[in-house]
Amino acid sequence: MSFIQPNNWLDALEARVAHPEAVAVAGGTDVLVELNFGRLHPSALLDLSRVGELRTWGRENGQVRVGSGVTYREMIADLSGDLPGLTMAARTVGSPPIRNRGTVGGNLGSASPAGDCHPPLMAAGAEVEVASVHRSRTIPISEFFVGPKRSVLGEDELIAAVWVPVATGPQVFTKVGTRNAMVIAVCSFALALRRPERRVGTGIGSAGPVPLQAHAAERFLEGHLEETGAWDSRAPLAESVLARFGQLVAEAARPIDDVRATAAYRRRALEVLGRRALSWCWEEYMGGRT
Ligand SMILES: Cc1cc2nc3c(=O)[nH]c(=O)nc-3n(C[C@H](O)[C@H](O)[C@H](O)COP(=O)(O)OP(=O)(O)OC[C@H]3O[C@@H](n4cnc5c(N)ncnc54)[C@H](O)[C@@H]3O)c2cc1C
Repeated sequence: MSFIQPNNWLDALEARVAHPEAVAVAGGTDVLVELNFGRLHPSALLDLSRVGELRTWGRENGQVRVGSGVTYREMIADLSGDLPGLTMAARTVGSPPIRNRGTVGGNLGSASPAGDCHPPLMAAGAEVEVASVHRSRTIPISEFFVGPKRSVLGEDELIAAVWVPVATGPQVFTKVGTRNAMVIAVCSFALALRRPERRVGTGIGSAGPVPLQAHAAERFLEGHLEETGAWDSRAPLAESVLARFGQLVAEAARPIDDVRATAAYRRRALEVLGRRALSWCWEEYMGGRT
């Protein structure tokens, strides 16, 4: 197996075109597992860990550009103020060694429906920046995934970064697993309240072939907050509103029975997670901190 190790972004993009057979590796926490279990037999690895350009993050025009090589540990340390939903999710990933190596770009690259970054990125309305030697393009996160472990990333492309709007209201990520740590999500849910735009964003993980949004739940809550003036009054939400929101989240899921849970359990769990996420976000909102 050959090992290609570019030192900068341009060399990485050129290597991507020159070696279409090579599997890209960032932190290696997914790729190495596949190699160890013999599920992947690449003739070449394209190691991106020395590409400094991918390891940076920063604010630009009300968004944070998070380089694809930024690790969970770095997100938790530096981005919890601007991107609370994403960093909440990052805290639930694996264990400290996995959070030290694993990257947001690797999570997107694997395109697992259970990837923990995906629901908060969907809820926040993020965009994925991808590039080849010929062009660079940004893709709304809702259009990035096309099936289990499949995305629209072209053969000659690499993920450069993800652009995430700075939080303008409370954000929450919740996850159900078979234990509290080192666990792949049975299902997960993220919620973002975007006060200036008066929009509600959602993301559902591990309950469909791709990460999903609960569009009907978003429209229901936006309508309710607008009609009752609750965006401004910050008045408590009725129990019936929380319950209806949870039901609509569950209805948006497309779960299957698998080794981790039944479809029926996932739906029921999402109803609870949706209701719970809204009550947490709204409690924060009533407190006026955001
Ligand atoms: C013990 C353990 C626990 C885990 N727990 C969780 C968890 O709780 N939640 C969770 O979501 N995941 C979990 N994972 C999975 C994994 O850690 C994450 O998916 C992580 O984000 C992968 O990042 P990485 O940098 O290690 O990716 P890599 O393994 O390096 O790459 C993953 C995929 O992305 C591609 N890729 C990487 N970078 C790029 C790029 N710049 N451009 C294009 N393609 C790219 C690779 O080719 C590969 O297909 C766990 C893994 C292990 C081993």
